[in-house]
Amino acid sequence: MNITELTTNDTIFSLGLYNAVTIERMFNESKIVFDYEEEKLGIDGLYVMYSDEMNELLKFMNDRQKLHGFCPYCNKELVFNLTSVEINSELLERKVCVLKYSAIGPEEYDSMERHKDYKCNERIELLKNYTYFNKKAICTFDSSHIMNFFFKLDISYTGAKDSVTLTKVGQSPSYTEMNRHKHKKFSKVLKQINSYDDYVKGDNLFSHDVGVGAFVYLRRILEKILLFKFNDYTKHKGEKKATSIHEFKNMEMEKKIKLLKGYLPKEFDNLKQVYGILSSGIHNLEEDSCKGYYPVLKTAIDLILLEQKESMEKEKLKNKNKSAINKITPEVGEKADKELKKLAGSKK
Ligand SMILES: [Zn+2]
Repeated sequence: MNITELTTNDTIFSLGLYNAVTIERMFNESKIVFDYEEEKLGIDGLYVMYSDEMNELLKFMNDRQKLHGFCPYCNKELVFNLTSVEINSELLERKVCVLKYSAIGPEEYDSMERHKDYKCNERIELLKNYTYFNKKAICTFDSSHIMNFFFKLDISYTGAKDSVTLTKVGQSPSYTEMNRHKHKKFSKVLKQINSYDDYVKGDNLFSHDVGVGAFVYLRRILEKILLFKFNDYTKHKGEKKATSIHEFKNMEMEKKIKLLKGYLPKEFDNLKQVYGILSSGIHNLEEDSCKGYYPVLKTAIDLILLEQKESMEKEKLKNKNKSAINKITPEVGEKADKELKKLAGSKK
């Protein structure tokens, strides 16, 4: 996974352990033209700066910002202060070097290239001071609630090619501990669709560096959600010629979705796509790719569960309110009658 695909929140709270995040290039070269006012001379030069990916990495390391997350000690969603890594100011300078070819003859181009390599190497040496670094997320409600995240940088530079890999190598509390609130948050819905164990097992596998296995559980959740929706659909529609559960279970995903079309809420719109990625992951993707995609697919499933949870709560509230209205209707009638009689009496 590339660093530009992740937000700071993702990297801190959702990224699994030993899941490589790539910075494909550290440096970017671009041709520039020096334009001297007096002579209006267009002169070629080379401008070396950090790539967007490298800027993202430094921003991630250096930023102290506020993050929304779940504090397992407070047991609720809160704002966290993220600590920054104190980075050498020279390393933060985006411009690496400027080479003016016009100032020299072609015979000196080689030495210019060496100068560029030297400047890039300087930065790499500085970055190596941060091979292991730590970021802390501190709860704003109680500053003794500290979550620790440990990262490692693998830097490779061979002159023409450079790359960096960022890996989360440790965290406390564990991913499972941090996600326990989600398990709790969706426990009713998950139990209703008979998928609570799948949800927890998927997360546990992911937190133990297993990608494909975690995908299997996410796919099971989707299948069970659809089966639940199918049962709900036949119950509400009361169709005489309805498809049997057995037939439904054996249908291809596309047909299942088609059958339930119009009955599924909009959060289910990307279900086919998500299911496709999960299936492809199980059959064709590498372990690392599955681990990289897991948080994104998990969020897609969480959104579906959230929709289901909210509609369950709405239904419950509606029923409760309906019976309360039914209860007060005769009471209101009686009271109104009394008031009317009283009014009629006073007029006499
Ligand atoms: Zn807290």
